[in-house]
Amino acid sequence: MRIVLLGAPGSGKGTQAQRLVERAGIPQISTGDLLRAAVARGSELGRQAREAMEGGRLVDDALVLGMIRERLGEPDTRRGFILDGFPRNLAQAHALERLLEALQQPLDAVVQLEVDSRELVRRISGRRTCADCGRVFNMLTSAPAAGELCPKTAAPHRLTQRPDDNEATVAERLRVYDGKTRPLIDFYRARGLLRVIDAEGHVDEVTRRLARALGAPLRAPRGAKRRARKDAGARPTHHKPTRKRAARQSPGKSARRKRAVARKVRAVGRGKSRRATPAARRGRLKGRPR
Ligand code: ADP
Repeated sequence: MRIVLLGAPGSGKGTQAQRLVERAGIPQISTGDLLRAAVARGSELGRQAREAMEGGRLVDDALVLGMIRERLGEPDTRRGFILDGFPRNLAQAHALERLLEALQQPLDAVVQLEVDSRELVRRISGRRTCADCGRVFNMLTSAPAAGELCPKTAAPHRLTQRPDDNEATVAERLRVYDGKTRPLIDFYRARGLLRVIDAEGHVDEVTRRLARALGAPLRAPRGAKRRARKDAGARPTHHKPTRKRAARQSPGKSARRKRAVARKVRAVGRGKSRRATPAARRGRLKGRPR
């Protein structure tokens, strides 16, 4: 599955992409994350990108395209990928189309996540990211559960706020989205790739809408159902049978035959020993003519 998630800042592209990674087992490629990592490393690319990012403007196309070309060349993308935050303008969309044509890996779908602009601002102000595992939370809608631990450090998540999630930068990012990224909706609609989903409401519900839009029944991550039941305070139900237990409950033909033979052998053994008990002997003798 090769997909693009399209949506304004705060529309939940990153959160939904992370959920797709868990359920579909394909990598998320977020240009925002790649750029932030370059800034944190202090690389030349990071140095060049930093100013635009802090101002809420788009980073130079050549830099972003170089980064994407390199990332799509990595072997884990052979089974598919989720592009999150790329492309962000028409030049990038055309360049992506050419690149994927050359790789013979055309896109399967572009999903636009629709969210009202007031809700976008509310979401961005509550957004926090774990500095260790990178998971995105929202303190207003999806804060970490009580006692939840970071899978990387086994300590509570270290929540940080992105430097560009401040009011002035957010306003500029929303303007950039309207002016430069929104035209991609028509670009992909014309190619028959566009699916639009309502991205407001509970994140699980949005994931379900996304799965429906992709026509992919996405499996829940391991242990998710049990965790959800626990969160809801329900008593644990029986676990799914292990393969061994399942085999015992529903044995194959040869296993059934083996067990039937074993039963017969035991019955014969019991018969012998019963005959051998004094009571049995008495019974037998009783019936016998003296
Ligand atoms: P959001 O979607 O919430 O704005 P991102 O993490 O996707 O957050 O992007 C953060 C910043 O990184 C953007 O404001 C922009 O400066 C830069 N950026 C990310 N992706 C691109 C891109 N494809 N082209 C240019 N700049 C980008």
